[in-house]
Amino acid sequence: MTELSIDRYMTYLTAIIYWALVVCWLAIIIFYLRQYIRFKRIYPLLTTLLVVLFIDGTRTLIESIYFGARYTARTGLIAPYIHDLLDLPQYVLIPKTLNLVAALVIILVIVRRWFRSLEEEQRHRRAIEQFRTELISLASHELRSPLTSIRGYAHTLVREFGRLGEETQKEFLEGIASEAERLGHLISDLLDMSQIDEGRLRVERRAVRPAQLCEEAVRTTAHPELKHALQLEVTPDLPEVLADPSRIHQALSNLLSNAAKFSPEGTEITVGARRLNDSVEFYVKDQGIGIPREEQNRLFSRFHRVSNARSPDTPGAGLGLYVTKGIVEAHGGAMSFHTDLGRGSTFSFTLPTVEGRIRAEASAAEDSPRD
Ligand code: ADP
Repeated sequence: MTELSIDRYMTYLTAIIYWALVVCWLAIIIFYLRQYIRFKRIYPLLTTLLVVLFIDGTRTLIESIYFGARYTARTGLIAPYIHDLLDLPQYVLIPKTLNLVAALVIILVIVRRWFRSLEEEQRHRRAIEQFRTELISLASHELRSPLTSIRGYAHTLVREFGRLGEETQKEFLEGIASEAERLGHLISDLLDMSQIDEGRLRVERRAVRPAQLCEEAVRTTAHPELKHALQLEVTPDLPEVLADPSRIHQALSNLLSNAAKFSPEGTEITVGARRLNDSVEFYVKDQGIGIPREEQNRLFSRFHRVSNARSPDTPGAGLGLYVTKGIVEAHGGAMSFHTDLGRGSTFSFTLPTVEGRIRAEASAAEDSPRD
């Protein structure tokens, strides 16, 4: 084999290698562009690396096209003047310029990512700081005030042992029981809050009649001390919903307790359920003080309490609505409210019906691509 033919074979081989590279990189880039959104969702931390790979892949693709064309022209398979053209100094600069531009863009992407993660870290630190402040203020008020009452009642009972009348003793013991219950609620709200924050609030759903959920909530709320008129308003023959009865009871009780806390005595509170497309909407309607417009967008934030004349005397940690929303969302439902300042509020949430869920699952299975 002469030296000339070896050179010719090498030129063919090099051209083939470059075109193979073009095909590979093209396939990778097309696959990458189609999957990018999915990658980004599944591996958010790898996004920068993916962008860098994409830039470098594009650079290699253009460079391979350049060299592929150059070597193919040298073999004589395409017009040889293309080889001379690509050999001109201004075209020789193409791959080098590309390298430079790609390196600059990669540096830019990395620096941008670095600044963004610094910002995220600062935001995260500020959120933790705010959470700490809120928790301390909660502990100093909401935990301390029932404890102070319990201590006061207990000390008086001990000090005045045998000297207090039966009625007074009963009153003190009831005070201890109700303050202990308040503490218990607060602690379980705090536990629920942390489970919601971590996305691990467990709900065990089964088919339940909406009427049963509303009746149960009314039954436990209608105790003798309630100073409001409770009404039940459930559309007959509602379909069954998928719900964890004890969690939905907790959600409805939270809404009922708010309705009672923020409405004048003697007014009506209505608990109801009605059909809404593939869901059932549950609602608690009161004729209370309502919520000012400027406070409405923070209503579901944890520890947030609306500042109004009632707030200082009304017990509450600002966790009820946060936990209720978390429970509803863990069921695949949504919360909403309507309020009229000075006239009352209606808090509602939806729960999927059993048949609606079956239909949704069937249509999701039809829509999903078959492998
Ligand atoms: P809490 O009742 O423990 O303070 P929530 O998260 O349940 O906490 O409620 C947050 C705030 O929203 C309450 O402090 C109150 O100001 C306002 N709010 C909630 N429900 C009602 C209602 N039905 N009517 C008027 N204000 C309400």
